[in-house]
Amino acid sequence: MAPHRAGGAERPDAPAWILAGRAFLRGRLQPVEIAIGEDGRIQSIGRSRTGAPRHDVGEAVILPAATDVHVHFREPGPDPRTENLATGTLQAAYGGVGLVGEMPNTEPPVTDVPRLEAKAARVRGRAAVDVLLYASPSDPTARGRLAERAGGFKVYLSPTTGIPSVPDPTELPGLLRELAGLDLPVAVHAEDPAEFTVPEHLVGPREWDLARPPSAEAAALERLASAPAGLRLHVAHVTTAAGADRLRRAGVSFEATPHHLLLSERTGTDARFKVNPPLRSEQERAALWSRFCDGTVPLLASDHAPHSASAKDGEFARAPSGMPGVETMLPLLLARVRAGDLPLPTLLAAACDRPARWLGQAHGRIAPGHRANLLVVDFRARTPVAAARLHAPCGWTAFEGWEAIFPREHYRDGRAIVRHGEFEGRLEGEVVRPEFARRPEARPPRSAE
Ligand SMILES: [Zn+2]
Repeated sequence: MAPHRAGGAERPDAPAWILAGRAFLRGRLQPVEIAIGEDGRIQSIGRSRTGAPRHDVGEAVILPAATDVHVHFREPGPDPRTENLATGTLQAAYGGVGLVGEMPNTEPPVTDVPRLEAKAARVRGRAAVDVLLYASPSDPTARGRLAERAGGFKVYLSPTTGIPSVPDPTELPGLLRELAGLDLPVAVHAEDPAEFTVPEHLVGPREWDLARPPSAEAAALERLASAPAGLRLHVAHVTTAAGADRLRRAGVSFEATPHHLLLSERTGTDARFKVNPPLRSEQERAALWSRFCDGTVPLLASDHAPHSASAKDGEFARAPSGMPGVETMLPLLLARVRAGDLPLPTLLAAACDRPARWLGQAHGRIAPGHRANLLVVDFRARTPVAAARLHAPCGWTAFEGWEAIFPREHYRDGRAIVRHGEFEGRLEGEVVRPEFARRPEARPPRSAE
């Protein structure tokens, strides 16, 4: 997966085609012509190239496809009609996301190699975009082998679907030390259940915020402070400015979700707005948003986790947590760029470049040698989000009516998967792993002892 070196001794092959338009390069939006090779990689970026078929998108902007490091497509699971790997990756394609990091808390959870391989088999031939599969390290006997097959590990500090038991404070340091020796990215759900309370009247997002308060995030980050320096640690869905500042100072990777950046516990009153960790106060949301706009928050991720409309229609206290988001993540924030609230380079770093690097992938930037996983976006094409026009089988969104800019075209390895806003029907998404991950064939002695 290592990028090819550009401009070596060999003359590069003629490009297969050229994508012409505008792109954000070297600090400004400028006209570009991107030469794309038969191998689906970017050969060169320049101007006035000739000799190959040319697709000129005019005033539209060419962007790298996004990477969403945090989705739940719930397959295998009890309710494949609400979401599965095929429907989830299709939404990703429409939303301009070329790679998803799929979480292991399915039913059954991905805790060993046979389950990981069974899940990988479900991806092949059904996925519109590439998929990186996380594993849960909850089975100590399976960790070493999983490190040779999985794309990352996900550690839950509070119980979740499929992962009912979590490492206690005495076990966590040893677990993190062992994972540091296994080289994979390690994402952590950082809420400390010791801070949770059970409110008497759990009627809406406001009470949910009190039940799983910001102090639960602070306590979990405190527990993670002892993580060894060699651990590829990434903290999922940070909800507070204090948490963001702390992780930034510590040099730890983390993400914020569109819902924590844009919605507060006041936005809605019903269970569609029930997520873990909860939506916070408007003041906290605004502070996190300012950290996102100034570049303090390194990554954007959706934590896409849909439930059926009927599951969300019932009593708030009983409703499951989670909302869909992979299709709207980038479009919502492109609209904030268009509105002048968010610098485009800040968004591209958080949604495209850093998450792809974090997962060890050669895309996320418009650069020679990178895969031509690209989007074409017309910033004039603003449209309100409408669940009826999205591709989520759950049929609802917490962002109904919000302004969004959906990509017009989406290319995977230089081949269109979305054109004129319509999916082209190629299901060639693959299971990918970080380029730095261990390979099964070359098994080094375990270094974690
Ligand atoms: Zn999640």
